[in-house]
Amino acid sequence: MSDSSTHPHSDTNPAPCSQQPGVLEVITGPMFSGKSEELIRRLKRARIARQRVACYKPDIDLRYHRTSIASHSSQTHDATTVATTDRLREHLYPQLDDIEVIGIDEVQFFDEHIIPLALELIALGKRVLMAGLDTTFSNEPFGPVPNLMALADKVTKLSAVCMVCGQAAIHTQRLGQSRELVVVGAAGLYEARCRAHFHPTGDDPAEQLELPA
Ligand SMILES: [Zn+2]
Repeated sequence: MSDSSTHPHSDTNPAPCSQQPGVLEVITGPMFSGKSEELIRRLKRARIARQRVACYKPDIDLRYHRTSIASHSSQTHDATTVATTDRLREHLYPQLDDIEVIGIDEVQFFDEHIIPLALELIALGKRVLMAGLDTTFSNEPFGPVPNLMALADKVTKLSAVCMVCGQAAIHTQRLGQSRELVVVGAAGLYEARCRAHFHPTGDDPAEQLELPA
């Protein structure tokens, strides 16, 4: 492809917009794939570049801290906990003129109103970073994440490491019998699994498969 620094169609678009549109970046993948770590990395780089950052998470995420987001590798970033998209909007909009980058972790737990909110923020020139699970432990698309992936400028789909065979893992395996959609902060209740070792019904015959009678 040609060098991106040249703009072959610039003659058809001579007048720069006064309000440049923003971007939506979605970071997704299974549990233990480093989504929060990648979100935190991008937010910290934005702050180093002296951009003003706001970060949110749903209040269902009780893992580790109530006032920050945390990755499994213990990286953290300050975050405001909000119960719904409407609460997020109420908190964000009064300070929006001072914010350039908005990060949202565990975005799969937000309602569908997060989608028009993301599009509004992009139209206002904001950089919106959203991290979350793309599928549930039953292998269903998770909340608003698939639609956000479709609308994003950039999607980063991370893989974890299968806890059975060590191959790249795209699934979150639920261990045990819980019927909760997500048991929050539940180390030991979930594992990353590859396609071959993923069992969406939840019960885990992996050991039996590894040791045939
Ligand atoms: Zn595997």
